[in-house]
Amino acid sequence: APLKPRCAGCGISLQSDDQKKPGYVPASSLDKEEAVCQRCFRIKNYNESSSITVNQDEFLKLLGGIASTNSLVVHIVDLFDFQGSLISGLQRFVGNNPVLLVVNKIDLLPPVTNWNRLRNWVQKQAREEGLKVVDVVLCSARRNIGFDRVVEALNGYRQGRDVYVVGATNVGKSTLINRLISDYSDLKRELTVSRYPGTTLDAVHIPLDDGKSIIDTPGIVYAWRMSEIVARQDLAALLPDKPLKPMTYQLNARQTLFIGALARFDFVEGERQSFTVNVSTGLSIHRTKLERADELYTQHRGEMLSPPRAEDLNDFPEWTRHRLKIAPNSNQDIFISGLGWIQANGKTGALVDIHAPKGIKVMLRDSIL
Ligand code: GDP
Repeated sequence: APLKPRCAGCGISLQSDDQKKPGYVPASSLDKEEAVCQRCFRIKNYNESSSITVNQDEFLKLLGGIASTNSLVVHIVDLFDFQGSLISGLQRFVGNNPVLLVVNKIDLLPPVTNWNRLRNWVQKQAREEGLKVVDVVLCSARRNIGFDRVVEALNGYRQGRDVYVVGATNVGKSTLINRLISDYSDLKRELTVSRYPGTTLDAVHIPLDDGKSIIDTPGIVYAWRMSEIVARQDLAALLPDKPLKPMTYQLNARQTLFIGALARFDFVEGERQSFTVNVSTGLSIHRTKLERADELYTQHRGEMLSPPRAEDLNDFPEWTRHRLKIAPNSNQDIFISGLGWIQANGKTGALVDIHAPKGIKVMLRDSIL
């Protein structure tokens, strides 16, 4: 077979089948000499990185290369989908290289948030997932909050090494790297994509002053996040853009909340208490009696209860039920990956059912706020 053409920027095999996948190049450019993939093209010509995604197996293969390097690993996670976007197996793949955890999208939390407490929460959650980090930096790439700290931490922990940036899809990796490209003075001065023939890590290299690089790896797709299964046109409603407006409901047992037709919360047993729903303001919440919930869903899903829209319902996974027991005085969130979380405010405990699309990660966690 003829040798597959490779990108002159990053060395990846070129393809013209899927724009979201690594190595994409329009068919017309595929056979050109010195062809570069779309992502390298954008970095080179527009000073702009765009996201490329891979599945978990490909991603783990890519990550395997990091262990044999001497580098700083920057792991970007989405604060809104913390347990959904954390790469818990990261430690095994990066070897002895330090991991700096950059927590993005802090603009979504209320401005009165106790940031020290939040940072402790992040550290504890990461530890529970088996991830050891040298430091935690909180930021918002989109709103340019905390970015000085990001650059400072990069400089402080890098110590003359390459920087690998890893993260799941939609965590804001491109936004952050684009900000680095435009803010990081070293990068601004001369931005070219260097050629790394035969690289084992199919990733974009953004050169730094000292001959080292920032290496942008593809975003990993985790199928357990709601954001990976909704239709593209519903993503904007699902991903919050503005600070969350927590909605508090005083509920009696046997009452139900629908979050669009994406998930359903049943308060099955417990004393009257309040629950605070933290989801994007783009989604609507409907309250009903548990005994009416099935009927309401059958009659109104795809319409009053949406997203998903009626035309997408057939492609949407069936719901499964998760029964969760909230212990008294436990201060916990019911976390639904990619959708948000419901804080249980009662002190007397509760039994709840979450109905969510099959495969979506649903769990109890220490309350984030
Ligand atoms: P990538 O897939 O990780 O490269 O993520 P993108 O940079 O494409 O961002 C994914 C989505 O998150 C986009 O809708 C961004 O506008 C949004 N986003 C990125 N950074 C932030 C942030 O700091 N705050 C908020 N609220 N949204 C962000």
